Amino acid sequence: MRKCIKCGEKAQVYLPQHRLSLCKQHYLEWFDNRVEKTIKEFKMFNRKDKVLVAVSGGKDSLSLWKSLINLGYDADGFYINLGIGEYSQKSYELAKSFSEKVGKTLHVVSLYKEMVPIPEMRKYDSRPACSVCGTVKRYYMNKFAKENGYKIIATGHNLDDEAAVLFSNTLNWSVEYLKRQYPVLPEEDGFIRKVKPLCKISEKESAMYAVLSGIDYIEEECPFSEGATSIDYKMFLAQLEEKSPGTKLRFYSEFLRKMYPILKQSEEKPKLQPCKICGEPSTNEICAFCNLKMKISQKEAKA
Ligand SMILES: [Zn+2]
Ligand SMILES: [Zn+2]
Repeated sequence: MRKCIKCGEKAQVYLPQHRLSLCKQHYLEWFDNRVEKTIKEFKMFNRKDKVLVAVSGGKDSLSLWKSLINLGYDADGFYINLGIGEYSQKSYELAKSFSEKVGKTLHVVSLYKEMVPIPEMRKYDSRPACSVCGTVKRYYMNKFAKENGYKIIATGHNLDDEAAVLFSNTLNWSVEYLKRQYPVLPEEDGFIRKVKPLCKISEKESAMYAVLSGIDYIEEECPFSEGATSIDYKMFLAQLEEKSPGTKLRFYSEFLRKMYPILKQSEEKPKLQPCKICGEPSTNEICAFCNLKMKISQKEAKA
């Protein structure tokens, strides 16, 4: 039987990459401390900042929100109803009931009201659903945060997500993307600062935190994420991790420590300008979101 290294009680969690056995209480503490350390390491925000957590109803975003509340940060939730059938319905209910349980505000934007739901949007845009969805989410998150006095947008991207993206960008030597792969995107020209406080926490760790905190979360992945290449990269990295615990964390952390500073030196910032239609910052005259909206209204006019 493994014993908690803090208190000697029966351990409920073993973390091979950290060689740590912990009981429930000390695991929850460990997780919160790790989130706090990451926030400090990357100077993400402080306790005076109003933080908006992008909530999907999944384990990562709810664990993040819970942890920020435990740590005493001023954090509200933001949920976008993407209109993806039962998946959206269920994830909304879980996000809502969590917000009630912790007594925090959950702001909700619905694509049914604002434009059209994601499944319908796919008819107007040939890009993969996840790219379209990303454009829409980024737009509403940024706009909402700005209009409602939130200084920070926090997302639940975990170590597995970040390592998979890093792996893909490295395989393809996508230098422009690598230059921007950092857990903090600074505020600039109308963009709100975006942070990823779970970037050093694995998917398993965030799932365990959710379970041990008694958080009800949606276990299904979004139906459109199926077949995404990032899933292959995650599986491959999981195999390496299995053989040699700590590989993922080392791959990602050492990139940030050794490679990112070199890449950053040669960063040419894209020039941002206010979108001619909505005024949100964009690299083009018309932003990706308004482009999408135009395509939808053009097709609707023809129909
Ligand atoms: Zn303990
Ligand atoms: Zn626009």
